[in-house]
Order: sequence, then structure tokens, then C-alpha cells
Amino acid sequence: METHFSKEQLKNKDNKSSEKIFRKCVHCGFCNATCPTYQLLGDELDGPRGRIYLIKDMLENNKPANEKIVKHIDRCLSCYSCMTTCPSGVNYMHLIDHGRKHIEKTFKRPLSDRLIRDFLSKTLSKSINFRIVAILTRFLKPFSFFFPKKLRNMINLMPIKFPKKTLSQMKVYGIEKKKKPVARVALLTGCVQKVLAPQINEASIRLLNRHNIEVVVLKEIDCCGSLNHHLGKSDLANETFKKNISIWYDEYLNNGLDAIISNTSGCGTTLKDYGFIFRTDEDFKKKAKKISELTKDISEYLAENIKLNFIKNKENNKSYKIAYHSACSMQHGQKIHNVPINLIKKTGNEVFNIPDGHLCCGSAGTYNLLQTDIAKKLLKNKISNIEKIKPQFITTGNIGCITQIANGTKIPILHTVEIIDWYTGGPKPKILKKL
Ligand code: SF4
Ligand code: SF4
Repeated sequence: METHFSKEQLKNKDNKSSEKIFRKCVHCGFCNATCPTYQLLGDELDGPRGRIYLIKDMLENNKPANEKIVKHIDRCLSCYSCMTTCPSGVNYMHLIDHGRKHIEKTFKRPLSDRLIRDFLSKTLSKSINFRIVAILTRFLKPFSFFFPKKLRNMINLMPIKFPKKTLSQMKVYGIEKKKKPVARVALLTGCVQKVLAPQINEASIRLLNRHNIEVVVLKEIDCCGSLNHHLGKSDLANETFKKNISIWYDEYLNNGLDAIISNTSGCGTTLKDYGFIFRTDEDFKKKAKKISELTKDISEYLAENIKLNFIKNKENNKSYKIAYHSACSMQHGQKIHNVPINLIKKTGNEVFNIPDGHLCCGSAGTYNLLQTDIAKKLLKNKISNIEKIKPQFITTGNIGCITQIANGTKIPILHTVEIIDWYTGGPKPKILKKL
């Protein structure tokens, strides 16, 4: 794709990087074929190629965003399915991030939109705020029909029950004293995940400890920053990124870290991008690059570093039919797909890919809260594809997908790490009690 940025414009680091990406695009449109919003809406501007043109036009011509551009960019799920399909290696993720940043700077959204986005930014990225809102929402549920559509959907999406924590909060989850740890890792416990599903972090800690790995949970680290990053609120996101980088880097230097483990693929994708985000920041680029290098999805870490000790006992002696939902951030963002499937296969269960598994379930961070109609259609399609397999339960590696899919089906859904924990000596996940 030809570009026409001036020398002056290319002094800006974001323009410089985006220009290189635009130049890789050959307009072929292959990406449209696997774009969920293009498939649903059939409008060129609701596909990756059209969005690339919109972003290029704004940036190259120093144009402020307008309603039309915002509508089509907002409809993008950031699922990165287009990146998997693109034969030219166009990094759409960096383009859409740049586009969103530009929109936030140049476009004044209607008051109701601003209020909702600010509310999401403040509640979802801080677990204490999210916990308070989650408790309040429980009381509001019966009256949700009084609220405007977007708020009503938000209230309805919030689960009624929140599992209780069973592990006490510690900085270091050590292993038995007489044993020597084989590695020391930090675990990102996540802002929303630790409220909605503490059992995922607990399964991760138990599993790693059981395989002689010391786990560090730094309580100052709450959100990875992706929520604000994808809302285009780059200043707020950068504040979180810098805080996280400094805290983990200090821990790495002072006490040693072999890896930073993410068990939420959405967060892991952003952590792996810290190096790019701070590529020109003299104070942070080295540290950010190190944090990205250390980051591993838990499935990736287990497969690469641990000889898992699978145990048969009365808790896990049945064989199940499992549908594996490949989260977009996992398969398209981090290019991890077969690794978790192969891990689950080692438990002796049958694992099935979901038909059209490359398509998003509609969760996509705050997407199901902001673009409810499209998100509902995607969820409906996902559930119908899952039902074709007739699984006894579903598994995935991302809390956003777990919450979204659980809203569309009664088939139990759990995190992949809960299965691995269970089959290596951990408890049977409560959600599967009746199976
Ligand atoms: S990120 Fe997903 S929704 Fe956005 S353009 Fe790419 S494929 Fe389409
Ligand atoms: S597939 Fe890649 S090269 Fe082709 S239009 Fe899409 S982004 Fe551009």
C-alpha cells in the first residue's frame, strides 16, 4: 500500500511504525474472509482492509476522527483473526491500537458513551472497584429492566454467584521445605479474574507448586493495562504498564524470576506487547522488552518446562468429551492453539475443536458490554457450533470467554488449567460436580 506521510509526520514514533505496517498491506482482502464483523455486517468498512484504509486516512491527513470512522473502528473486536489470515504479515493489532489512540485524542464521543467508557475504565481495571460493583449488581439484577439497554446488558452479564477463595493471600507460594524449587515464576492474577473466578489462580498456583515451582503474586500488580489500552485511553494504560514493568523488573533483578505467567490470554497478549509499546522510551524499553520475553501463557509454560505428573484417582477416573474454545487472544494474538489441546489430551479425555473455531465468541474485553448486538450474534453462533460437538464440558484459557460463553449455554465451562490441576492431583472443579 502506498503511503504519503510527510517527513515531519514520520518523526512521530507511532506514525513511523504504522507507516511500515501500511506498506506491507497489498489490498488483497483475504483478511475479510475470516473477519467476524465483516461476515456479520457485510460492509467493507467493517472488515480489516476497510478499517486499515480508515486509519491510514486519518493519520496521513492529520484528520480528526468522525462519527463514521468511530462507528466502524469501534465495531472491531480486536480478535486478530485477520492477522492469522493475512499472507503479508500485516500487524493489524498495532494499527488498530494506533487508530483507537487517535480517536480518543481527536473525537468527542456523546456524553452517554463517555460516561459508560469512563465507568468501565475505572471499574474493570481495579479489582476493588469491580468487587464493589459486582456486589451492587446482584441487588440490581431483578430491576435491570428499568435501566437503559447498555446498562441492562452489563447488569445481566454479571454472574450472580462468585466462588469463594480457598487459598490465603500470600506474596510467595513456596514449595515443601525439604524440596528445592526448580523455578520461580510470577503469576498475573488479573483484575477481573480474581473476583469472578479465583479458582483459576488457585489451580495455577497448586499445579505449579506441585511441580516444585515457587509462585510469586505481587499484590501491587492488579490490571495488565489492556482494558484502558483497548479503550484508547493510552495515558491511563501507560501508567499501569509502567507500574507493572517496574515492579516485575525489580523482582526479577532482586529475587530472580524465570517467567511471568499469564492464565488469561487477553492479558498475556498485552504483556507480550510491552516491549513494542515502549520501543522508543529510553527509561523503559530495556525493562519492557525483558518483561515481554519473560511472559508465557500458562499452557505454553507447562508444555515447555514441566514434565507433568498425571495421576489417576477416584476423582478423575472418568473420560469426558471436551470442546476446546480457542480464545482469539490465544490463537490469533499469541499464536498458541495446539499446545493447550495437547496438554488436555494427556489427561486421557477426548478434545474437540469447535467448528468455525477461528471466530470470536463476542467477549473481546469490553466489547460484549459496548457492542451488545454484535456480541450476542457472535455468541449465538459460537454456542450453536459448540452444541454440534455435544460436549460434556467446554474449556478455554481466557476469563472473558468463560464469562461470555457461560451466558449462552448450560454446558459447564472451565479454564484449561483447572483440568490439568485436577488430573495431576488437584480437586475436581466444582462446576463439574454433577458429571
Ligand atoms: S481484529 Fe477481528 S474484528 Fe477486527 S478487523 Fe481483524 S478480524 Fe475483523
Ligand atoms: S490480508 Fe493482509 S495484505 Fe491482504 S488486505 Fe488484509 S491486511 Fe492487507
